[in-house]
Amino acid sequence: MKVITKLLDLQRTIQQEKTSGASIGFVPTMGYLHEGHLTLVEEAGKNNDTVVMSIFVNPLQFGPNEDFDRYPRDVQRDTELAKDVGVDILFIPEVEEMYKGTQSVTLSVTERVEVLCGRKREGHFDGVVTVLTKLFHLIQPTRAYFGLKDAQQIAVVEGLVSDYFFPVEIVRVPTVREEDGLAKSSRNVYLSVEERREAPTLYQSLAEAKISIEDGERNPDAIISMISENIQENTSGKIDYVEVYTYPELAELTSLHGEIIIALAVQFQQARLIDNIIISVEPEEDLKCLER
Ligand code: AMP
Repeated sequence: MKVITKLLDLQRTIQQEKTSGASIGFVPTMGYLHEGHLTLVEEAGKNNDTVVMSIFVNPLQFGPNEDFDRYPRDVQRDTELAKDVGVDILFIPEVEEMYKGTQSVTLSVTERVEVLCGRKREGHFDGVVTVLTKLFHLIQPTRAYFGLKDAQQIAVVEGLVSDYFFPVEIVRVPTVREEDGLAKSSRNVYLSVEERREAPTLYQSLAEAKISIEDGERNPDAIISMISENIQENTSGKIDYVEVYTYPELAELTSLHGEIIIALAVQFQQARLIDNIIISVEPEEDLKCLER
């Protein structure tokens, strides 16, 4: 595995890959790797000649009161994990390498950001599309792999790629969970012992909502209330949002049908956790739904 920190080295290496005709699978991350990230690498390895992973805690996607400084980092451990799982090129730039001086052109997301984390984290997705635009240009991936845990991110990135004709296929990878259902996340290390015990309620409440939809519930407000009550009763976390939309458009629904996302964010003492499920809801006559 090649570890690269400088843009010039990366560009030279990618040029060689391209000249040799290799397909490139790209996994962008912020590091502190866990099985979720490693699953993306495994998926990338199945369909591409070369797997590139980036580790970059992007300051642009953190708000002034968010956890940029506290975001967990362990480059040495990450490097070993990346090597073991089959990454071919690991790109770990410094902030100065990615953002030289002031940006003369900025990117701003206008669709799919007025809801969920986009509403709560102002400018977050502008930061995400900015860094991904840089990384896509540098790495020229054939395919890029994203986790459905960050489903709004995928919706926004699909918009970016489609609007600006990026020649890359976006691959959606299902959320990897702990045995008790908690979505794996770098931020889980900041849960206290008690909070860690409570945290599986997030996914359990989504799973119960799914059963309720299978049983015929079609009212989004009823689903939102059911999940909110469950979280309030069983955790010490503060609900940031529980919302239901179409997916990936993230449009409002008065009655549940088609591809929908049920998503939530809960603030614990030192960690804000998000989770979601995406399900396909059949019309009321045919009460089936399939999780994606
Ligand atoms: P992050 O390092 O948190 O920015 O995540 C990098 C990539 O890994 C993103 O595409 C995430 O959606 C994905 N990811 C993070 N956690 C998980 C998980 N539990 N399951 C699947 N993908 C994940």
